[in-house]
Amino acid sequence: MPYFDHNATTPLLPVAREAWLRAVDEAWQNPSSPYREAARVRIRLDSARERFAQFLGCKPKLLVFNSGATEGANDVFRHWARATDPSLRVAISPTEHPCVLEAAKESMGARLAWLETTAAGVVKLDALDRLLGQETLAGVVTMAANNETGVLQPWSEIAQRCRARGVPFFCDATQWLGKLPASRLSEVDWVIGSAHKFGGPKGVGFLKLPAGAEGFHGLRGGEQEHAHRGGTENFPGISAMLAALAEAEEKKVFLEMQRLAWREAFERDLGARIPGVVVVAKTAERLWNTVSLLMPHTENHRWVARLEKSGFQVSTGSACATGKNGPSHVLAAMGLDAIEAKRTVRVSAGWETTEEDWRGLLDAFAKVAIELQPAATQVIQP
Ligand code: PLP
Repeated sequence: MPYFDHNATTPLLPVAREAWLRAVDEAWQNPSSPYREAARVRIRLDSARERFAQFLGCKPKLLVFNSGATEGANDVFRHWARATDPSLRVAISPTEHPCVLEAAKESMGARLAWLETTAAGVVKLDALDRLLGQETLAGVVTMAANNETGVLQPWSEIAQRCRARGVPFFCDATQWLGKLPASRLSEVDWVIGSAHKFGGPKGVGFLKLPAGAEGFHGLRGGEQEHAHRGGTENFPGISAMLAALAEAEEKKVFLEMQRLAWREAFERDLGARIPGVVVVAKTAERLWNTVSLLMPHTENHRWVARLEKSGFQVSTGSACATGKNGPSHVLAAMGLDAIEAKRTVRVSAGWETTEEDWRGLLDAFAKVAIELQPAATQVIQP
């Protein structure tokens, strides 16, 4: 069944599966234990850290392996709550993932200031400049790529501006990694990511610290991860995460322009076959794999169910928001009303998605549009 929900999670890549199995077979000892076999695991863990750090362009010591982006986000804000001047505010974009937004609200409370965004949800750099000129901030927070719309933030420009003012910048790169090159993330102070979004296993991820964050600690416990996070290291998971990132970074699959062309052709042809369908944030720079569609009629869960019957898995939006009451905060921040948000369907492709899959999805959408068509709406027959 063609899978178009990669922003929720990706299938495990064969190289990641092999790396995981090799590690559980050959390197299952606790890397902190005092005998030779354990020391070998420690050496393999250190070399995995070095290679992963090379992809991010940072020092290995700045990398904390953890359970994923949610843990990382919670830890960053808890640290900021402890380590920053309580009179200073933290500027955050309103379209962040819930793991960033909710963690920020809990730890920062009234210290949060909302960054101004365009109708596509892109942070306005001139407004950020004004804010940075007006007050000293404890931090700035924006994601690299949005999970619901695929919209890219100008995170590199934001990083430069923050660096110039000495303001810490935290960027959630969960949807960026594996889809676009990782190397420039070294420009960012605090970065989080999750392996399962780029072909690795679930429950493993990382937090990149800025230089000088020696006092940072996440989970309390043993002295693992250079004393930044307690808990026995998940070497098989880390090893599989590294294999998945290496596959993306070394094969540079994200540089194959045809992937973007397939998405664009799908959007264009869908518009011709379903009058009234709107591509959310159409003109913004977006990930090559993601399309958020505002359907002309009928609630999104009915589109999703019909498309599944036709053999295609798509989503109503963020998997984290599924089952949640109320419309998506991302779409609301972009000016969509609650009724429109309930008509939004998210399509997110992966590396294994072919042109034929995109064409098949197009035909399935056109067929479902006829099935769901309200009496008064005219749909062009395929
Ligand atoms: N950030 C973004 C942009 C995401 O899309 C997700 C997952 O959907 C997360 C953070 C949280 O990742 P995890 O559930 O692996 O902690």
